[in-house]
Amino acid sequence: MPTFKALLATQDGGNFRASLQQVDREELPPGEVLVRVQYSSLNYKDGLTVTGRPGLIRRFPMVPGIDFAGFVEESASPAFHAGDAVVLTGAGAGETAWGGYAQLARWNAQDLVRLPAGISLRQAMAIGTAGFTAMQCVMALERNGLRPGQGEIAVTGAGGGVGGIAIAILAKLGYPVAACTGRPELSDYLRSLGAKEVIGRGSLAATPGRALERERWAGAVDSVGGPALAGLLPSMSRGSAIALCGLAGGSVFTTTVMPFILRGVSLLGINSVTVAPEERRAVWDRLSSDLPLDLLDRMTQIAPLEQVFELGKQILEGKIRGRTVIDVNA
Ligand code: NDP
Repeated sequence: MPTFKALLATQDGGNFRASLQQVDREELPPGEVLVRVQYSSLNYKDGLTVTGRPGLIRRFPMVPGIDFAGFVEESASPAFHAGDAVVLTGAGAGETAWGGYAQLARWNAQDLVRLPAGISLRQAMAIGTAGFTAMQCVMALERNGLRPGQGEIAVTGAGGGVGGIAIAILAKLGYPVAACTGRPELSDYLRSLGAKEVIGRGSLAATPGRALERERWAGAVDSVGGPALAGLLPSMSRGSAIALCGLAGGSVFTTTVMPFILRGVSLLGINSVTVAPEERRAVWDRLSSDLPLDLLDRMTQIAPLEQVFELGKQILEGKIRGRTVIDVNA
């Protein structure tokens, strides 16, 4: 195809706007591997870019979409051959280099991962950055010593992408999970993913003046940050950790040093963008063994590229449940 469909963000004075366009294939940036994209996905960051929020896109014009999955069309790298199914998450896609909201993408081989056997391209994008990050969180907690049998794990932002996938993984691994949500109407859904208990967002709030509470959590995956993080810390058990990856509820939190110095609690920061190739492959290997794909399918909706503007608004408002796959060819 001499031209291909893409969502293109262009600068317009101090602001930028994104629109669907036919783009000349010659305009693709350089890279070793040309990928015929089948699916992308919708993440919180994608919501920010398609609604025109500043800060994430570092150069224009830009194709947003921080994830993509598709088939290799041409490869100048010995690591991949035409016809290989590959997936890319993060790595600056849609921020510093053209991303997944397009029918073609060109990328260097080191950030691409061969699709693990048993996972379809659609499921790879149901996982996307959100699922990749959820798995990184679980692996970080394991490195800190977490094992089944130590107690309950709290998952915040449970109704969202990171939260839902974290619940499904942790439950499969044998952990009792408390899903924390601001949407009580999602209780049945969250239990169907494996949550033992569903707790309200408000119940995590820290008690003013109390640095420590009863030790409750053996670990936590926090995609919300802000007050939720401040609320988790006083109830963390001795030697436990919070894998902190998100800020859906805010980036600022107020706490004390007490959980850290009296209980040895750790805060593990998770970054899914800048990840070494061997770690990327290790995370996908764990996803292929530890994420139940039937549950992944249950939490996924699929939508054409045209709908990404409306869906982007909804994800920022916390109204999307689970994961959304974007079909760039529909
Ligand atoms: P989603 O929008 O799918 O999920 C976020 C969830 O957070 C919502 O479903 C909602 O859950 C909860 N939430 C939303 N708004 C608020 C609020 N104001 N206060 C408290 N809770 C709220 O996003 P993702 O799961 O894709 O991403 C979650 C966060 O993680 C984002 O901040 C994202 O930027 C970050 N992230 C970071 C990564 C990294 O590399 N560090 C990678 C991936 C994501 P509920 O309705 O159940 O309460």
